[in-house]
Amino acid sequence: MSDANTLAKEAFSHRDPKNPQYHHLVARGLVSIQGTPVDVEWLRQHYASYNTVLLRLPSSWSEAWGQDVRLSKPFDEISLAELKAEVTAYFKEPDALSACPKCGSMTWNRKHYPSECRDERCSDCWMAAFSENMTKQAEKQKAKDAARDAKRKAEGFTHKTLMWVHPPHGHDYQVEMYSRTPPTPAEIQTVLKRRQSQVLTDHTTVAL
Ligand SMILES: [Zn+2]
Repeated sequence: MSDANTLAKEAFSHRDPKNPQYHHLVARGLVSIQGTPVDVEWLRQHYASYNTVLLRLPSSWSEAWGQDVRLSKPFDEISLAELKAEVTAYFKEPDALSACPKCGSMTWNRKHYPSECRDERCSDCWMAAFSENMTKQAEKQKAKDAARDAKRKAEGFTHKTLMWVHPPHGHDYQVEMYSRTPPTPAEIQTVLKRRQSQVLTDHTTVAL
């Protein structure tokens, strides 16, 4: 396991470029690894005037939903003891944490920290359900695609071509084309050009 110093450096490397005034410090090292010194000198050198830390929970490094906390002083003025005390006090605030209804581990209390897209589950339980759902969706889509391919094959089509359109603006998207012979590169490019794709080589063809 990384030490608190490494964790802090790692966390700082994830700062939000859109909000350069915010620099994030993972609190895991501060509160859960008692006695491990955080390199306050390093903080002072690199982030002297910053005073915001992102607190994440000890149980979950993958916790993408830290809480921003403003310290009473910037890093070049705060002592390690004060830093620890402020973070610890924050975790002890009434209602800051609540038990995940699924696994019982402590997580951010959503009554205290409302969220549009998260419920009272901890991030591990939330993420597990999320990926399970994604897998189910992918399986459903696969079954749908297979049914459509079978239908087209019965109609006499022999090939399916998947093309990625890279438009000049906006997101890339996929189009598919069924054909009765393998399509030539020129035919594929015609479709992609008509859709103003900036890339004309992103496609694959499979036999049905
Ligand atoms: Zn949980």
